[in-house]
Amino acid sequence: GRSAALQAARPMIECRDVHKYYGDYHALRGIDLTIRAGEFFSLLGPSGCGKTTLLRVIAGFEDISSGVVLIDGKDMAHVPANKRPTNMVFQSYAIFPHLTVAQNVAFGLRRDPRKRAEKDEAVEEALAMVGLTGYGARAAHALSGGQRQRVALARALILKPEVLLLDEPLSALDRKMREQMQVELIKLQRQVGITFVLVTHDQEEALVMSDRIAVMFEGGIAQLDEPETLYARPKSRRVADFIGVMNFLSATIVEEQGETLRVDVEGLGEIDIPAAQIATKNETDSAPMIGFRPEAVNVFPEGQPQNAPRQSGGVIDEVVYYGDMTYYDVRLDEEDGTTSEPVRISMRNVFGRDIPDVGARVTVGWSPASMILF
Ligand code: ATP
Repeated sequence: GRSAALQAARPMIECRDVHKYYGDYHALRGIDLTIRAGEFFSLLGPSGCGKTTLLRVIAGFEDISSGVVLIDGKDMAHVPANKRPTNMVFQSYAIFPHLTVAQNVAFGLRRDPRKRAEKDEAVEEALAMVGLTGYGARAAHALSGGQRQRVALARALILKPEVLLLDEPLSALDRKMREQMQVELIKLQRQVGITFVLVTHDQEEALVMSDRIAVMFEGGIAQLDEPETLYARPKSRRVADFIGVMNFLSATIVEEQGETLRVDVEGLGEIDIPAAQIATKNETDSAPMIGFRPEAVNVFPEGQPQNAPRQSGGVIDEVVYYGDMTYYDVRLDEEDGTTSEPVRISMRNVFGRDIPDVGARVTVGWSPASMILF
């Protein structure tokens, strides 16, 4: 598959123990990563984690304080931005409103010695790539946000860079246009085959688009994995919390049986957790917790038969209806007669089936296989 092919591809960007200080502020704290040729790679993290700084370091817009950055095997220490095989697309599209679409795209070629006719052909080719065939003569100021973003992409692609660096390129678009552009960007990347490095704070966007994602907090990489692994096997509570929704219930370790831990979990009772379901990065300051995703468990009106391996009782605290699905916040029954903090459970809505109300008694069906011990 694609991920095996990418693993075999040559390294395109390598960062080795990269540190960046802005004065006293330690913005990048020992970044180690390898991005492979043809990969769609995302840097994901909250505001201020250093993802833009890392992108600008790769582009050559920022010097590093220590460490090594290689692009296509070459040390970039003394290579200025304009001599690197990279090109950047910014959040604010930075297109010229008084020029035509074609003139905007051709701007990328202003230092290209080729003849006019050849350049025109390159412009047409770049416009076709981004789905703007026939738009060349239009005035840039008359374009929609999505079209402007395409022009900015075409202008970057016309230079045929080895690496395209994208700094929150879709964040100014409305939700529908953003989702459409996400799909188009994936297609475009597969078609042109160049390495894309995307900076985003939007976890959904990163999951949708990327071959691999580096999750960054405070200048460091907390986890670097494929989207499915990040979502299903987060290494820490912090990563789990940042990617999607994760419920946490406090747990007590009852006994160790080789690699398996038996834990007693509030509202769920005793569960055997094999090594594969134990998060590897222990947050030393926190007590053990069991985590699970909202879609990993089911909720039904009490007494309705279910085929889940384990069942727990509870009461509905909140119902949030989303059309195709509903979120239920459920307090699980505890042995001492109290209830747990609410856990969030998502259920696909089935036409004709009633949605239980707030206060209703429910049965929660679950499997030990979808529980992660943090
Ligand atoms: P955002 O999504 O908000 O841009 P980010 O993860 O991209 O966040 P960076 O822009 O890389 O974060 O900034 C990381 C940290 O470095 C921030 O605390 C920021 O204030 C600081 N910083 C960035 N650029 C400079 C600079 N030129 N001088 C001083 N500090 C800077």
